[in-house]
Amino acid sequence: MLIVNQLKLKPGYTEKELVRKIIAALQILPEDLLSFEIERQSIDARRKPDIFFILSVACKVRHEESVLRRLKGSDVSLYNPVEYKFAITGRDLMRYRPVIVGDGPCGLFAAYLLAKNGYKPLILERGFPVDMRKKDVESFWNGAPLNLNSNVLFGEGGAGTFSDGKLNTLVKDKEGRNKEVLRTFVKFGADPSILYDAKPHIGTDVLEKIVKSMRDEIEAKGGEFKFNAEMTDVLIKDDEVVGVMVNGITRIDCNDVLLCIGHSARNTFEMLYNKGIHMEKKDFAVGLRVEHSQKMIDKALYSDDEEVLKKLPHAAYKLTYKADNGRGVYSFCMCPGGYVVNASSEKGLLCINGMSYSGRNGDNANSAIVVTVGKEDFGDDHPLSGIRFQRELEKKAYEAGSGNIPVEL
Ligand SMILES: Cc1cc2nc3c(=O)[nH]c(=O)nc-3n(C[C@H](O)[C@H](O)[C@H](O)COP(=O)(O)OP(=O)(O)OC[C@H]3O[C@@H](n4cnc5c(N)ncnc54)[C@H](O)[C@@H]3O)c2cc1C
Repeated sequence: MLIVNQLKLKPGYTEKELVRKIIAALQILPEDLLSFEIERQSIDARRKPDIFFILSVACKVRHEESVLRRLKGSDVSLYNPVEYKFAITGRDLMRYRPVIVGDGPCGLFAAYLLAKNGYKPLILERGFPVDMRKKDVESFWNGAPLNLNSNVLFGEGGAGTFSDGKLNTLVKDKEGRNKEVLRTFVKFGADPSILYDAKPHIGTDVLEKIVKSMRDEIEAKGGEFKFNAEMTDVLIKDDEVVGVMVNGITRIDCNDVLLCIGHSARNTFEMLYNKGIHMEKKDFAVGLRVEHSQKMIDKALYSDDEEVLKKLPHAAYKLTYKADNGRGVYSFCMCPGGYVVNASSEKGLLCINGMSYSGRNGDNANSAIVVTVGKEDFGDDHPLSGIRFQRELEKKAYEAGSGNIPVEL
């Protein structure tokens, strides 16, 4: 297979125009192009008013070797994409099924891969299935009290369900994992364009359906889900895990426990720390969200021409700044056409995030403006000192808005 890079096409291009470009780049006859697939598509708006899509396209062609020889040094090269392979590293028969704690993106994908490979995992999730959870989240956003186990962060799909669903990552894809994740999302209902879009995006409404379909498939392969099932203890004997406790009352015997508990299960972190399980503190970023009219962002980054804007996805930005005190400030998780939402998980505390639906058709763009914080901000080196720091900030935010998201113009 060959890959043709740097194909430039105007917004709104047709498949015919794309084929013409491919044939021209490969310098072949139309009948020698056997098949093609877009591998990557990004937008180049650096030379406004000229805006282009830049594509990389994988192609099967007749006489591949001679085409390659002829085009040496051009934007055409040999293409051997890496396919992800599930590594089976053990050979001993497992006494118990593996237990996965947490049904967020991490737990869900672990469960899917294990189930696909015959391991029949048991998934414990403290929150509720997505339909019930959706009702709890919407009531909370409409003023009902916070449900501690069913909210924007806890429940089927984890913090990933009510998220923006942006799937771009800067992690290099040496083992084909990123592509496998995207393919899995497409298999369970995401738009196939995420496979090549440089900024793939799913949106909460579609994610809700995907997590349910993934659950169905995992169950069909022998996996089992328990909702409203918080792991409250890990049972350890002679330095080996022998079981977990659920909701403080039910014991489940197991030797393999995957902790996929995300970044918000503060009581579980404390429980694990008190059991003497090794933990390390990690720097993270905190800040606020800014909102602008999405129209303004689209105009600033693309064009004033409504006809051009119709052919482009809403624009996203990324900004960095170094403050006088040496701290780096940067925009993060920009949500075009999205919403700022209350993503709190503890009573009397307030924390926010940004999300969007698949159409990204909200009036506003929002983005986090954050700064990295670490030991010098937390006050000490204790592995859980970052949580104390978060709670202090979240308490102040709660008080500033009397329980609502504090906003200023
Ligand atoms: C509003 C919002 C928007 C976001 N937008 C994006 C985005 O666009 N792109 C992106 O990449 N990331 C985004 N994120 C972040 C992303 O959702 C998280 O990084 C991701 O969900 C982490 O996955 P995880 O599986 O590790 O943990 P989580 O998603 O946090 O899942 C952990 C799960 O474990 C469960 N759990 C915890 N403790 C226990 C226990 N003791 N027993 C049983 N179950 C337990 C929780 O209920 C939860 O369901 C967003 C987050 C939010 C809140």
